[in-house]
Amino acid sequence: MICIPITASKVNEAIKDMKKASQIADILELRLDFLRNIGEKSLKRLLSGTRKKIIVTDRKNRLNLIEEAIRLGTDYVDLDISIGEKLIKKIIANKNKTRIIVSSHNYKKTDRKEVNQIFEKIKKLKPEIIKIVTLANDINDNLIIFDLIRKARKQNKKIIALCMGERGEVSRILSVLFGAELTFGCLAKGKESAPGQIVAKDLKNIYRIHKLKGNKVNIFGLVGNPVAHSKGITVHNKVFQKLNMNNVYVNFLVDDVGSFIKSFEGIISGLSITIPFKGEVIPYLDKVDPIAKKIGAVNTIVKKNGRLTGYNTDCAGAIKAIEEHIKLKNHDFVILGAGGTARAIAYGIKEGKGNLIILNRTINKAEKLANELGCAFGSLDIQFLNVHCLINTTSVGMFPKINDSPINRKLLKKMLVFDVIYNPKITKLLKDARANDCKIISGADMFANQAALQLKLWVGKNVDKNYIKGMI
Ligand code: NAP
Repeated sequence: MICIPITASKVNEAIKDMKKASQIADILELRLDFLRNIGEKSLKRLLSGTRKKIIVTDRKNRLNLIEEAIRLGTDYVDLDISIGEKLIKKIIANKNKTRIIVSSHNYKKTDRKEVNQIFEKIKKLKPEIIKIVTLANDINDNLIIFDLIRKARKQNKKIIALCMGERGEVSRILSVLFGAELTFGCLAKGKESAPGQIVAKDLKNIYRIHKLKGNKVNIFGLVGNPVAHSKGITVHNKVFQKLNMNNVYVNFLVDDVGSFIKSFEGIISGLSITIPFKGEVIPYLDKVDPIAKKIGAVNTIVKKNGRLTGYNTDCAGAIKAIEEHIKLKNHDFVILGAGGTARAIAYGIKEGKGNLIILNRTINKAEKLANELGCAFGSLDIQFLNVHCLINTTSVGMFPKINDSPINRKLLKKMLVFDVIYNPKITKLLKDARANDCKIISGADMFANQAALQLKLWVGKNVDKNYIKGMI
């Protein structure tokens, strides 16, 4: 179930939000502590503002409002454990038809021993639902919460358990799939009641948490830092929906990739890997595809029979996009940049017997890569360029700095220009190239190719590249 918290500060605004939220949510949470003026009369108005079930929550612990909500017959009230066990027992004894949620919040950390102790403490009070919410300081904190949900389910106890914060975002999707009663999704950005809350529409339309069969769901995701910019969640979830698969794709914001792999390998089915972990992840895999090994970067992990294998689909994705325009053999290429993406594309060009020069801001990085591959190198500060194809793999021109270009427009003449950046789809570099009558390739083509290859590796299906490109 999706619960939308109503966080308006005025009663009229709250009633409007309740109407909007009722179109998406299964249940609403009326946050009395967000309202500037709330009395018994306005509480009655608010409680009749929707046909959906309502949880009344007052983090200011005002007993008169809680008792009035129960008297008015609200479906649920949420009592924070801090209000005191004696008072909670008293409210439970006089709750009429209202169901009681007893909750605990730790805004600083997630601690396994502590959440288990709190679970036992709340359980003794015999509320209908136990709610435990903590802050995730590390992606692995989510596993503490998932274990707690499993334990509650085994004991036939209803539970709401989540991690707050950006490192806890995955729990807002996965907790319900593991058996939590509900997850909170905000009505819109800016209307969150807690940090890390996902927009409710996205929980429903992108992640499809209603449709997925929780106990059998296959979990895929992007591992990186940062991850918020990625289009993967839109693309892969849409494809899984189209293929009618019980799969979900989430963003894992990770600090230590080794520890993440060790902790999560039991629950994931496949992963995408992005900055800064494409090289770092390799020692934690059971097997690495020979091409990925040579490149020294893995952007795709497949789990089969409990074993993790790493692949690189960036290389094949980029080369496919280039070969739609020109052959590699005996053509001259220049790559701007010497990072992970440059490495993958450079490897592909050399394999295809293209001639290559690598230009980079930090010259010794260009030199190192060029020496590995046996090609020429230089700095970005060039005055003349005579090649068949120029490829930008630097992040210059990427959102939000969309008016930047890594190279002077005057140098772009009679060549194919490929920018790996896909946000925006047409960068300043590509606009300049087009203005100089050059042919162009957008990073969206590479993204679509590499995503299609990932999907083939994960689920064995061929997905049309143009279908993916349309979503970027
Ligand atoms: P990376 O390993 O961090 O490399 C970044 C490169 O950009 C380095 O060569 C760096 O030069 C250069 N650079 C950064 N800021 C610069 C500046 N202000 N001026 C000049 N050079 C600068 O990153 P990556 O993984 O290769 O990713 C690079 C880009 O590729 C990103 O925009 C990413 O979104 C995109 N990408 C696209 C796809 C796709 O499917 N279309 C796939 C993967 C990546 P120094 O060595 O001097 O720092």
